[in-house]
Amino acid sequence: MSLAERIKQKREALRISKSELASRVGVSSAAISQYESGQRNPSHSVLLKLANALNVAVDQLSDRAHGIDNIEDSRLQVIAKSWPLMPEQKRRQLFDQFQAMLNPSISGLTGAETIYSSPAQYARNIMEANDYRDLPVDVEKLCVRLSVSIVSKCAIQEHEAMLVRTEGGATLFVSEQAKYQTRRRFTIAHALGHLIIPWHLQIVYQCRSGNGSFIEENPQEIEANEFAAELLMPEPHVRNDVPGLTNLDLSALLELAHSKYEVSFSALLHRVVLLYGRAAIVTAEKGAIKYDVSPSFPRAITNCLLESSLAYRFCSGQHEEIVEDLRTHTKCLSGRVPASAWIKDVSEDERLLEKTIYMTEFDRTISLLIQQP
Ligand SMILES: [Zn+2]
Repeated sequence: MSLAERIKQKREALRISKSELASRVGVSSAAISQYESGQRNPSHSVLLKLANALNVAVDQLSDRAHGIDNIEDSRLQVIAKSWPLMPEQKRRQLFDQFQAMLNPSISGLTGAETIYSSPAQYARNIMEANDYRDLPVDVEKLCVRLSVSIVSKCAIQEHEAMLVRTEGGATLFVSEQAKYQTRRRFTIAHALGHLIIPWHLQIVYQCRSGNGSFIEENPQEIEANEFAAELLMPEPHVRNDVPGLTNLDLSALLELAHSKYEVSFSALLHRVVLLYGRAAIVTAEKGAIKYDVSPSFPRAITNCLLESSLAYRFCSGQHEEIVEDLRTHTKCLSGRVPASAWIKDVSEDERLLEKTIYMTEFDRTISLLIQQP
């Protein structure tokens, strides 16, 4: 079944119209028709919103999980058909050979007998294989262990890093754009993801355009980000430190990002939103919304800051009396606001929990919008 057919099937199962789905996702009805007829494929961010609106996991919808349905190569069909019938020992032999062919340089370091389909599991695996338990994770040490040499401060056009596989290892060129240590660490961890995930087979990877966003469209880039997130911010630690979104204190989160994980505030915030869902992250500068990250929040965000939002107080200079946290140079506001402060075409009585942090140094607000049950 194709992606187009799956979208249509799930929508019909929910008994909702194309226009109802369109409004939940924040696109036009025409776009839904195009997705369902296969004329056009949704972008990754729209796919996440579609999955949320249709109450299914992204993997149930995306082509990533349904590749076997569409196998055209008859050799691959033979493998797919014989695999379930093979004794475990033969499967292991076949897989060991396969993995050694794919990725000879690292198969010894990751434990050739363990194989997973999830990028995060590879990150957990590499940590265990190398007995790394302390945070922040020393990514440079991991590079040495994996025979990756880092060449810093390169002038790479439009990208933050370039990974080039070599005989027995890799060379990682890191752009001078990655001037913040936290960002540089994420970039290195991301590149290690390409090196370790067995189906990332390109010899050269050019990574991370410099817009500072964690939104990626390319599936392998998304997977490398998943790997990096788990490597630097292991899920059990994050769940323990941040048990949920409702009581989250954003300046405490910033402190935690810098001191414990040594990642950027946005990286950790993005991580907790992906873990708990039902929330959006919106960044604003000088009253204009720069970008929003709302993978689990399928609603269309307003184009500019509205007076009824808490973030508006910062951009309009009405924040003198709000106490600044001197360690993090931030000011925070949290409270329930009308959903119309942030979301287009919403009913008058709907409300949202807004948590906004104001970075005094950058004159920027980052708002976490949490859907209320
Ligand atoms: Zn990449």
